[in-house]
Amino acid sequence: MDQALPNSPVNSFGIQDYRTILESLAKATWSADANGQVVSDSPSWRAYTGQTREQWLNEGWLSAAHPDDRVSARQQWQDAVANRKQIDIDFRVGHPGGGWQWTNLRATPVLGSDGAVEKWLALNLDVTERKGGEVALRQQEARTRIAVEAAEMGTWEWNIAADHTHWNEQHFLLFGMEPRVEHTLHADDFLRHVHADDLERVKAELARAIQERVPYEAEFRAVRDDNQAVVWMRGYGRITAEFNGQATRMSGVMYDITRRKEAEIALREVDRRKDEFLAMLSHELRNPMVTIRYGLHALATTAEDQVTNSTLALMNNQTDHLVRLMDDLLDVSRISRGQIQLRKERLDLTALVGQAAEAVRPLYDELGRGLQLTLPPAPIYLEGDATRLLQVVTNLLTNGARYTGDGGQVWLSLTSQDQEAILLVRDNGIGIAEEQLLAIFELFMQVDNSLARSQGGLGLGLTLVKRLTEMHGGRVEAQSEGLGQGSTFTVHLPTLPPLPPVLPDLAGQAADPSAARCILVIDDNAFAATMLSMLLERKGYDVHTRHSGRAGLEAAESLNPAAILLDIGMPEMDGYETCRLIRQRPWGKNVVVIAVTGYGQEEDKRRSREAGFDEHLVKPVEIAKLLATLTDLLDKCRTAQQAN
Ligand code: ADP
Repeated sequence: MDQALPNSPVNSFGIQDYRTILESLAKATWSADANGQVVSDSPSWRAYTGQTREQWLNEGWLSAAHPDDRVSARQQWQDAVANRKQIDIDFRVGHPGGGWQWTNLRATPVLGSDGAVEKWLALNLDVTERKGGEVALRQQEARTRIAVEAAEMGTWEWNIAADHTHWNEQHFLLFGMEPRVEHTLHADDFLRHVHADDLERVKAELARAIQERVPYEAEFRAVRDDNQAVVWMRGYGRITAEFNGQATRMSGVMYDITRRKEAEIALREVDRRKDEFLAMLSHELRNPMVTIRYGLHALATTAEDQVTNSTLALMNNQTDHLVRLMDDLLDVSRISRGQIQLRKERLDLTALVGQAAEAVRPLYDELGRGLQLTLPPAPIYLEGDATRLLQVVTNLLTNGARYTGDGGQVWLSLTSQDQEAILLVRDNGIGIAEEQLLAIFELFMQVDNSLARSQGGLGLGLTLVKRLTEMHGGRVEAQSEGLGQGSTFTVHLPTLPPLPPVLPDLAGQAADPSAARCILVIDDNAFAATMLSMLLERKGYDVHTRHSGRAGLEAAESLNPAAILLDIGMPEMDGYETCRLIRQRPWGKNVVVIAVTGYGQEEDKRRSREAGFDEHLVKPVEIAKLLATLTDLLDKCRTAQQAN
């Protein structure tokens, strides 16, 4: 304690000084007799509360107290007087200007030489500000408690250093436990309830929150004590105290999200079934399509009059459209199920965009739209799947032609900067309203206006553009000044640094197709087999058909075909099994075997490679592609045989 220096001013602290200090602190000072009754006037009290002298002397200070506080204040005052002990209480008293103010009353008994109470000395301090804060805090706490109760939330506080945890009652109930609020708990009491499969993740989240001072957030499964039921919980917490740079306390909540999780799981299941249904639907539709397409080709070769020819051309056109829709549907459902794997290679985007423009040129000519390309003089290399990127560009160009009217014009430009290729497809067509600019990339999304609707379609194209672009590490966005103002689609794709392009090896180019070679078609669908054989015969092949794997094997033994076109989905012995058996025979080692099938998934292709197929073509096969593949494989086979 500070020692006062002799003769220092403190030593001359007199009774008047004490009075001055007291008056500056206290709002009122007053005295009462040994029984606690007010007997002398207190101008400071009257100034403080606005009571009149009569009120003060007749009724005493209690009459100035707030009615809600009066009973308790009187009780405490009487207790203090009876037991001759000091008093220190808070209550509200009237304000001279109206309303209420918080006061802190302190009173102490003064004892005479005989030890009896002579009188009481009292003072009042103003504590309105502190009490206001306390009340607000209590109200806030009450509101929080109501919210926590209503939401059935468990709350927890974890003293990290001591590993002591405190839970509220609800927290115990969430784990199916008897509440033991006073019980000392540890982090393990929480962790032992977390499902084994989620435990490491929850621990990692807690550790991260402690180390990086970020909120702890986790959704996890928990096993209840009472019935061992697995429930879903969400935990959230924050560091609430630190010492010497170490997190020492974390507080948070935990609540049951089982119902939401179950709804999510059910929704995902419905979504999965929808995807499966779409995949199956488009797969099933392929089989009849194959017959139609082959039939049309066959008819086209014999048709002589103009009407038949143009009808066939129209039907062919519509068949192609149907096939495209089915392909898009199948692609979207495969992407949704994560079943599309990109076959990435280093490729030149400039050349690819040129090819895409060539592919859509007939459509532009047919609809009378203009297409202007601005391509860079040099190649732009990127790592990508050529087929898929072609799909991205043709989809945008096709939309450009479809969503412009007479005098429609589409401008395509390709540039690159900062290791990014930027493809712009701009048109002067019907435009897109601002609120639709993001939505049009959603699955099955079509803008609801008659011009757009008149174009048909299923709302798949832009979904494919977006997802395929993203699978290439890129992004796509749409811009438009509004309806009737045209639209611009911008695709950004990461590029590779330029390298001298590898020159294609032209040495091994296919020679003339080898005519009059023996082909065996094995397909349980007799009609499809006949159509295919008719088309191949027209190209000069000697074609035989069989309708089961076993019959095909027997026939091949004697026919010794150069190539076998083999369906996969056949009863009894499927195409995989048939191919495996073919490869086991001495004559089957070098024969060309091509799968011609409705099964087009990556998994199907993998299985056909394993079974020994040389190629896997998906129905409905384009005739030109089938012939090219056949010629190519037969030539390779012949070259290999000559080399031996
Ligand atoms: P679809 O064209 O089959 O309906 P998309 O996914 O390709 O499906 O397009 C979704 C919607 O976006 C279209 O229905 C159309 O309303 C709008 N849209 C697409 N491209 C354009 C464009 N170039 N101009 C204006 N609107 C377009």
